[in-house]
Amino acid sequence: MPALTDPALKDADPTIAELIAQEERRETDKLRLIASENYASRAVLEATGSVLANKYSEGYAGKRYYEGQQIVDQVELLAIARIRELFGAEHVNVQPYSGSPANLAVYLAFCQPGDPVLGLALPAGGHLTHGWGVSITGKYFASQGYGVRREDQRIDFDDVRRLALEHRPKLLWCGTTAYPRLLDFARFREIADEVGAILCADIAHIAGLVAGGVHPSPVGIADVVTSTTHKTFRGPRGGMILCKEEHARAIDRAVFPGLQGGPHNHTTAGIAVAAGEALKPEFKSYAQGVVDNAKALAEALLSRGFDLVTGGTDNHLILIDLTSKQVPGKVAAQALDRAGIVANYNSVPFDPRKPFDPSGLRIGTPSLTSRGMGPGEMVRLADFMDQVVKDPSDEPALARIAGEVRELCSSFPPPGIIQA
Ligand SMILES: *Cc1c(COP(=O)(O)O)cnc(C)c1O
Repeated sequence: MPALTDPALKDADPTIAELIAQEERRETDKLRLIASENYASRAVLEATGSVLANKYSEGYAGKRYYEGQQIVDQVELLAIARIRELFGAEHVNVQPYSGSPANLAVYLAFCQPGDPVLGLALPAGGHLTHGWGVSITGKYFASQGYGVRREDQRIDFDDVRRLALEHRPKLLWCGTTAYPRLLDFARFREIADEVGAILCADIAHIAGLVAGGVHPSPVGIADVVTSTTHKTFRGPRGGMILCKEEHARAIDRAVFPGLQGGPHNHTTAGIAVAAGEALKPEFKSYAQGVVDNAKALAEALLSRGFDLVTGGTDNHLILIDLTSKQVPGKVAAQALDRAGIVANYNSVPFDPRKPFDPSGLRIGTPSLTSRGMGPGEMVRLADFMDQVVKDPSDEPALARIAGEVRELCSSFPPPGIIQA
């Protein structure tokens, strides 16, 4: 049973304390397959919940607009030094509030309103902030979206190059939110060079895999690298930007004063702690485990007749096309949740169904790996999923599976949650 360690919240606000306890129970008892989620360590959570949240620090270390930065400067410089060491980056900014603001800062650093930009289209696995129409990045810039190939659902570099030559983007995005394969950063670099575009790699999902050495790094290839800090990287919710020295001033000025006020110093401390964890050898084993588990889960699903976008995975996530199972993604996701397995419905490339009711299901292995599960558990999970998708309305079966899931989870207590 999870337990809040500090009684202060329970005394002051039992309602919120109880809701947090319920969320701890949910995260303990369920198999969390949302590819962008993870379990931050207790150390990361503690730094993030610290008094550093009380301090205002507009500016950068040594050049702040308020006094009293004796401690905060050290925290931010440590976070920067560790991220630089981890990724081999020339310049690092850890102040973006999250992944989306980090990306906005890149637009502000390199583009004027209305400038042409090019990114992977959302239905093909891209992110909203890479120029999708409903996002500010699609409204304030002349964005175009490249896609994946129909035959193998891999990024269509002919399409990238054709659109780049036609539209001459100021900014070329590579980076994905629902794409199960490795990214060829060098190929994007060639195209960016051909049209004189700034190349930005958004590694929000895969930063932990890059840091752990199981995905190629864009650092040194792309002009700018943006990321969240809370997905495979397993830090607090936050953002960071890595860039070449020549772009350091433009990026720093875009983050502050261009886009934000005071940095979230408690988050910065959490990033420093997470980066310290990622510098340890155990993190490499975790990153390798994430990929090994995804491959084992993909194999187990394929052998149970599931269709996987691109036929499998190289990274932490799997995109299932449920068309042949004749179950819509949303129906499957909701039934799985009732069975204690939490995922999200997702569009698949060339999806004939609507984004709010698509054909696919996105799943990932970071959270399961963080709690110590391995290939054996992935096979059991594939069995559970198979049973749920065969009859998503069989409520007694869903309840029975939820019980088995809870039983399985009890052997793998997750990091960050203190068990009483
Ligand atoms: C998650 C994600 C983001 C946005 O991060 P937020 O912290 O949710 O704003 C940006 N880019 C990609 C590729 C992502 O997957």
